[in-house]
Amino acid sequence: MTKQEALNILKGKIAETQAIGQLSNVFHWDSTTDGGAPKTSFGYRSASIAFSSGEQYKRIVADDTRAAFETLEGDASLTSEEAAMARDFARAYRLNSAIPKAELEKFSALTTEADNAWRAAKDKSDYASVESYFARIFDFVRRVADWRGYKDHPYDALLDEYEIGLTVRTLDGFFGELRGTIVPLLRKIAHSDAKPRKVKERFLPGQQRILTYRLADMVGFDSSRGRVGETVHPYSMMINPDDIRIAIAYNGDLLSGLYSTIHECGHAIYNQGVRKDLYPYGLSDSMSMGMHESQSRFYENIIGRSRAFTGVLLRLLKVRFPYFQDWSADELYSAVNIADPSLIRTEADELTYCLHIMVRYEIEKKILQGEVNTNELPELWNALYKEYLGISPKKHSEGVLQDTHWSGGAVGYFPTYALGTAYAAQLLNALSKSVDWKGDIAKGNFSKVHGWLKENVHAHGGLFLPEEVLLKATGERFNPVYYTKYLNEKFGAIYSV
Ligand SMILES: [Zn+2]
Repeated sequence: MTKQEALNILKGKIAETQAIGQLSNVFHWDSTTDGGAPKTSFGYRSASIAFSSGEQYKRIVADDTRAAFETLEGDASLTSEEAAMARDFARAYRLNSAIPKAELEKFSALTTEADNAWRAAKDKSDYASVESYFARIFDFVRRVADWRGYKDHPYDALLDEYEIGLTVRTLDGFFGELRGTIVPLLRKIAHSDAKPRKVKERFLPGQQRILTYRLADMVGFDSSRGRVGETVHPYSMMINPDDIRIAIAYNGDLLSGLYSTIHECGHAIYNQGVRKDLYPYGLSDSMSMGMHESQSRFYENIIGRSRAFTGVLLRLLKVRFPYFQDWSADELYSAVNIADPSLIRTEADELTYCLHIMVRYEIEKKILQGEVNTNELPELWNALYKEYLGISPKKHSEGVLQDTHWSGGAVGYFPTYALGTAYAAQLLNALSKSVDWKGDIAKGNFSKVHGWLKENVHAHGGLFLPEEVLLKATGERFNPVYYTKYLNEKFGAIYSV
């Protein structure tokens, strides 16, 4: 096979998988947002989901795909885009082909069933009814680790799927440092005299909706190349480079809705900023979950929960809501940064968020090592919450059953949330050297911050590995010190500790 033939094969596969991906993503949007498909139709629709993922799999795990990327491997005459395309196919082939196809199909059916069982179990707070599904899912992921192979720890084989090259060794070091910062800081905060004012009012969806559009526009979401919809669990997705969507939940909690809007905008702005010429190479998305999360958290926490931004936000709130008339920007700043251990990860504050991730990390590590049985999970969960956050749930729905990840078979995904947060702090440190971000944001001007991120992170899409993006943007490898320093300075000042 010639180089040109190999490139043509891979580009053809990309065009087809993108075509299928566009259809299945529109389908997903239609299934999960208001105004879309009726819930009762899900039974019929699942066949389409299974069919499209099967079609994508066939294009990756195929003899001609393998022959093509093997032809290109090590070819020094490739452009960086071509080399990255071949690299991604080799990786996708390796990850997918390691698992026997019949096993993968069985697993896909199992997770669909398990997800339904988990929803019912969560409603009734009934762990026993979902335990046998968890047992089968964890048994499968342990086998995946063996099929894929690993050097030091079976968990490495799963972590690498979500963040290339991520290992237990790296995470043990990172989380150790983080715990050493957060736990003592929380202890001091618990004894602090600072008592931030809380938002007590509930707000109607109609009131929240107008502000969502205003905010999305302000932070730089290009609505001419995207859509904002309504859903139960907020998310963002790319359909193609000119169609990036975010779905927002309006549950009466105004600040939670606003901050999840900023979070999802961070993801969407990332996708909107990728060089369009990378699309035919399949490089329009970040290849790193951690890097994607770094952008959503950069917008949500670092910018959105900064003192500079709360002044801007308060002005917007005062125009629309009489409730905020007697609030000061300092009060709002403290209100959006209340550090208070809680049970639900998705509602956690910026400081305690990573402790929730660490609980799941420790449990997944034990599962992969075969050190814990599924019947012991609730107890282990509660004990770790007590140890890390000082509280433990009374109901399984607020404990081990709160997240959808395990019933969906996503083991190894959680750590990318924490990693992304730390990437964001490292990027902030580099950005601050050339951009007066506090001054700009206080004026509601996002353009320089947006420009720096676009040039140094977004534009590259999936061209580089996460560690390469960090190195290029910040001049150094991943270093969690920026994050621990950021937390100490920010929360130390808010709580005077
Ligand atoms: Zn996110």
